[in-house]
Amino acid sequence: KGERLRLPPWLKTKIPIGKNYHKLTSDLRQLNLHTVCEEAKCPNIGECWGGGDNGTATATIMVLGDSCTRGCRFCSVKTAKSPPPPDPMEPVNTAKAIVSWGLDYVVLTSVDRDDMPDGGASHFAETVRELKKRQPSILVECLTPDFRGDLHCVETITDSGLDVYAHNIETIEELQWLVRDPRANYKQSMSVLEHVKKYKPDMVTKTSIMVGLGETEEQIYRTMEDLRKIDVDCLTLGQYMQPTKRHLKVKEYVHPDRFKRWEEMGNKMGFLYTASGPLVRSSYKAGEFYLTNIVK
Ligand code: SF4
Ligand code: SF4
Repeated sequence: KGERLRLPPWLKTKIPIGKNYHKLTSDLRQLNLHTVCEEAKCPNIGECWGGGDNGTATATIMVLGDSCTRGCRFCSVKTAKSPPPPDPMEPVNTAKAIVSWGLDYVVLTSVDRDDMPDGGASHFAETVRELKKRQPSILVECLTPDFRGDLHCVETITDSGLDVYAHNIETIEELQWLVRDPRANYKQSMSVLEHVKKYKPDMVTKTSIMVGLGETEEQIYRTMEDLRKIDVDCLTLGQYMQPTKRHLKVKEYVHPDRFKRWEEMGNKMGFLYTASGPLVRSSYKAGEFYLTNIVK
């Protein structure tokens, strides 16, 4: 059976809390907004909501309901074969709430809705439009499903007025079957990212890899090369953490030095930025990184 690995010291350290943090948490109570940051008990909340050095507060909000039609083995989101249809008022209400909350950068993400004809793409895009209409200066990153490889859905999102198109590859090619729902795979996710760039060459694209699932150095390197070949702009690498006993076990707690090496490697390979560290998540300080590395 194997025992659970012990948590190494670098995952136990206290996280700094930025200036904006307390204001944003107290404002959130009245807004009825559900953030992934809080629901996933993300350890970066102090840094992301605080806005860091350049004061760019980032939060992640999930649309299209709270139940996913898929069941990836690393993910603790609720699953359902046929979740209730999304609330048609969600795009407007989410947009209003985000605007009154006072964020600078928002990551909109969603569950997978394989039960909907367009995978929820138009609802997702509508949320972006409602948001940009009310606050044109807000930076919006969409972290999308793969839409089963349906590139029309990808275009619907790409046309919505967002600033960054993110889709996570999650893991190296060889471990896709173990980690992700069987409907997801490496090629399909690569094709989503590739299509965004072909369709709109100046769109910023972004992806994320979890490590500690048994991948080798060589496999990580090859994944990064594959991503650069299709012009993915931004990359994050972080440690996989097992959310509950029923989820996939951690194989290894990767040492911070290795994360540092991948960051240097990513920078050499030409990513606009590579955020790599044990606690990094796909939306980690996304606003701060965007302003520092993308907007000159
Ligand atoms: Fe979680 Fe996304 Fe997988 Fe659904 S598709 S189970 S939300 S990772
Ligand atoms: Fe929220 Fe993502 Fe930052 Fe975690 S890393 S606090 S989920 S924005």
